[in-house]
Amino acid sequence: MRTILLLHTGGTLGMMPSGEPASLAPGRFLDHLLEQVPELGQMAKLSVEVPFNQDSSCLEPEHILALATRVRAAAQDFDGFVIIHGTDTMAFTASCLGFLLADLGKPVVITGSQRPLAFVRSDARSNLVNAVDLACRGIPEVGICFGTHWIRGVAADKLSVHQFEAFQSPNLPPLAEIGAEIRLRPDVGQFVRQVPEGVGERLDLAIHTLTPHPGMAWSLAPAGARAVLIQAFGAGNLPMGRADLRAMLEDARQRRLPVVVISQCPYGGVDLSAYELGRQIEAMGAISGGLHTRWAALAKMGLVLGTDGGIEAVREAFGVAWAGEPMPEGAWAQA
Ligand code: ASP
Repeated sequence: MRTILLLHTGGTLGMMPSGEPASLAPGRFLDHLLEQVPELGQMAKLSVEVPFNQDSSCLEPEHILALATRVRAAAQDFDGFVIIHGTDTMAFTASCLGFLLADLGKPVVITGSQRPLAFVRSDARSNLVNAVDLACRGIPEVGICFGTHWIRGVAADKLSVHQFEAFQSPNLPPLAEIGAEIRLRPDVGQFVRQVPEGVGERLDLAIHTLTPHPGMAWSLAPAGARAVLIQAFGAGNLPMGRADLRAMLEDARQRRLPVVVISQCPYGGVDLSAYELGRQIEAMGAISGGLHTRWAALAKMGLVLGTDGGIEAVREAFGVAWAGEPMPEGAWAQA
């Protein structure tokens, strides 16, 4: 039987019908799981740890780094890992862990649910069973198992507040389709790992993020910001006729703050060569985030800033897939 370490970190799955979190002494939580889903005990030899119990909206970089550290420390002792996580920021944690654990060589399956396990009509049961099944398969991927898909963490986003199919990887086919059988993508687990040396000690999220709308007033990045992430329109366009936007970009350039541009559209990504506006943004020093989701972009920037990397390190990071994240045509890094 495969040995699986299940790390419960909080979120809806473990809540009781009263809305309270489940009792989280690790032994008690394992009992709770096995009481609700006894078949888990037949699928694998499960160990449970509860590193923290938080609504995922309250997570801080330290929580995510601690998870990565725990999984790495336990890698020799387990065949695979299941992380139960709230859905709200699951895609961000999955992006960070996808980079931090790219070279782990073992499955890390992140799951959660829209309804608590203790509810009769809940997606928690099937998500857990599927997650444990995937974690037993030895595939070296960090991915989110939710509804009928397993998707790569560094390409994932939450797209629904209430549907059981809450997550998608808009720019990357799923790693697996989960139905009567689990159909794996033929190249699952095969991607080039090229996370730079030194990444992983710190996650510095002093990033000024902007989601513009027509008519928005642009102000300078606040003191203390170490980078700017702009979720621009379409292929990466911004109203470059606006003096306040130009002042913001010029100020960032003078302060040596990396400025990364991603798209407000989940499908497709940024191509700064596509329009004159994009070319102007690039000429002012902005870096294309290509097909990175906002979560993967934030994770990558935070990890580069955590190594004290500046504009050039960030530019390099967005030019290459660190851990199988989708890249614009021509830049795919496949094993
Ligand atoms: N607010 C919850 C969380 O992210 C939502 C969920 O788990 O679905 O922790």
